[in-house]
Amino acid sequence: MDCIFCKIINKEIPSKIIYEDEKILIFNDINPEAPVHFLVIPKEHIESAKKISPENKDIISYIFIKIAEITKKLNLKNGFRIVNNCGTDGGQTVNHIHFHVLGSRKLSWPPG
Ligand code: AMP
Ligand code: ZN
Repeated sequence: MDCIFCKIINKEIPSKIIYEDEKILIFNDINPEAPVHFLVIPKEHIESAKKISPENKDIISYIFIKIAEITKKLNLKNGFRIVNNCGTDGGQTVNHIHFHVLGSRKLSWPPG
């Protein structure tokens, strides 16, 4: 499958890995928008948030538990932002579901 994030999971493309287990991979975004900017992806290829279903829902809560653990380890005690871009209007450019985690600076709101 021609999916850049599956290639990162399979180590066909290098990445700066922060955390990995049998279910998920967390790695630094190549084009960071904040001092901390990493991506959390399931190893299972799920195209986007549109494809979250009763069959695959557990990985989503698992991802959020890991985000809570890792942001605590990184001492992001003032907070952080979790972003999921979905589809063309949502600005999704890689069609493998991913959650951006941004932190270590004050982020503006709303997004453009
Ligand atoms: P999105 O626009 O929400 O689909 O986000 C895709 C993100 O993947 C962007 O923030 C890119 O900078 C990031 N990205 C694309 N290719 C790579 C790569 N090889 N390694 C790390 N991050 C990447
Ligand atoms: Zn994929």
